[in-house]
Amino acid sequence: MSGLLKNYIGGEFVDSTSKEKIEILNPATLEVLGHTPLGKRKDIDKAVEAAKKAFKTWSKVPVIDRVQPLFKLKILLDENVDEIATLIVKEHGKTFKEARGDILRGIQMVEVATSMPTLIQGETLDNIAKDIDCQSLRRPLGVFAGITPFNFPSMVPFWFWPFAIASGNTYVLKPSERVPLTQMKIFELIQQIGLPEGVLNMVHGGKDAVNGILEHPDIKGVNFVGSTPIAKHVYQTGAAYGKRVQALGGAKNFIVMLPDAPVEQSVAAMVDSCLGCAGERCLAGSVLVGVGDAYDKLKDEVLREVSKVVVGNGLDAKTTLGPVISKDAKERILKDIDTALSEGAELLIDGRNPKVDKGYFLAPTVLDKVKPGTMMAQKEIFGPVIGLMQVSNLDEAIELINSSNYANTTSLFTTNGGAARKFVSEVVPSMVGINLGVPAPMAFFSFGGSKDSFFGDVKVHGKSSVEFFTEKHTTMTRWYVEGMNDAVSPMWKSE
Ligand code: NAD
Repeated sequence: MSGLLKNYIGGEFVDSTSKEKIEILNPATLEVLGHTPLGKRKDIDKAVEAAKKAFKTWSKVPVIDRVQPLFKLKILLDENVDEIATLIVKEHGKTFKEARGDILRGIQMVEVATSMPTLIQGETLDNIAKDIDCQSLRRPLGVFAGITPFNFPSMVPFWFWPFAIASGNTYVLKPSERVPLTQMKIFELIQQIGLPEGVLNMVHGGKDAVNGILEHPDIKGVNFVGSTPIAKHVYQTGAAYGKRVQALGGAKNFIVMLPDAPVEQSVAAMVDSCLGCAGERCLAGSVLVGVGDAYDKLKDEVLREVSKVVVGNGLDAKTTLGPVISKDAKERILKDIDTALSEGAELLIDGRNPKVDKGYFLAPTVLDKVKPGTMMAQKEIFGPVIGLMQVSNLDEAIELINSSNYANTTSLFTTNGGAARKFVSEVVPSMVGINLGVPAPMAFFSFGGSKDSFFGDVKVHGKSSVEFFTEKHTTMTRWYVEGMNDAVSPMWKSE
């Protein structure tokens, strides 16, 4: 699998037309695992041509037959979980356990997409006017494309294409150029499931491939997940080219603890939220907020919990915190820690210089006395850094959360049902946890934040995905039966 990766177009692995490439690095060992070709518009054009041709017949295949390849894929994925998880650890850096979660959450998407015969059903009503019946069907639109980030090399692409193709569309995936090996393995499995050629395609690349997608006249809609500036660009450009777009962006997530919360359990979940996958999750906690007396308990317990963290290669069973993705990411996070300190935060635990030979490792850093309005309270860090903040009451915590430009997720830890209810009804982020650190909606519910964390109106996976990937097509019918009906409903007849 090392060497220069191939695209997957029309059911075959084919060479990219591009001579440009980037290294795929294991962030723990700095071993070069292969090279990603930086595909161009020409590669996208070829994939779209194959997908457009396939759409003509695939969209006519009965839905019960369209989902059969997904059942086969589910079995193949189950059989290959550990191999795929190992690849994820190597190219991304997360721990083996986290990598298994990445693939298992992806498999759940495939499972839910197999229920498309139920999900895609439309609406009917007879006699909407005298002798007139109405049916509204959901029809596929054509070719869709997905552009995905580095942080979940397996799961995020599965948020989209299984639902897209099961609902009768065809698809072109452009995975993150930094972690493409996971998808190479998954596409080797996809090649064995009997999908007609062209139904699902993959093109490797970066910016040029993305712009080739956004400007392509035959792509009907785009799914994007990544940072906020690129999400905005994708949303605006895709819309300018007449496409449906859902673009999921970055996040800044606050987790609040009330004085009545059970300290050990709550803080274990909060720290796991902040440090899991090295903080490189869009649902990662970033600032932990203690309300009143909860603050001191929170602080002490965070220090105890963080002291248990073991930094190392994700393939080592003892490791609980792997490296961050790249040298650039490490440098950016170090700079953010410096900025936080210059703005008055206090260093409780300094993770900037972990004892490791090589690799892009950072140990956990804990910053105390974070203030609203400072960088640490506003910017996505996407690394193993925890900020601590104190507020005097729940209203103040809610105000803090709602003042953020981001609104992906937030959580409250409490035993007070009334407080929890108030929190749920007043916070803006649209994925909310009560006594849960990472409230990620599962495949059969819809996923997506609001404000600068989400551009679009229809959320991802679950029933919403059917909204995104289909168009409602409504027919009204009247049959003339001699002697049984008037030509015009009496209701509308002029006297
Ligand atoms: P990124 O924005 O750098 O890249 C995402 C995709 O955009 C990649 O496929 C990349 O090739 C492409 N891209 C990058 N620069 C581009 C440019 N200038 N023009 C066009 N395309 C470009 O994001 P990332 O670093 O891979 O992922 C991390 C980000 O993703 C974080 O901000 C994280 O919060 C976000 N994320 C959000 C969610 C969510 O559900 N909201 C989920 C996962 C990740």
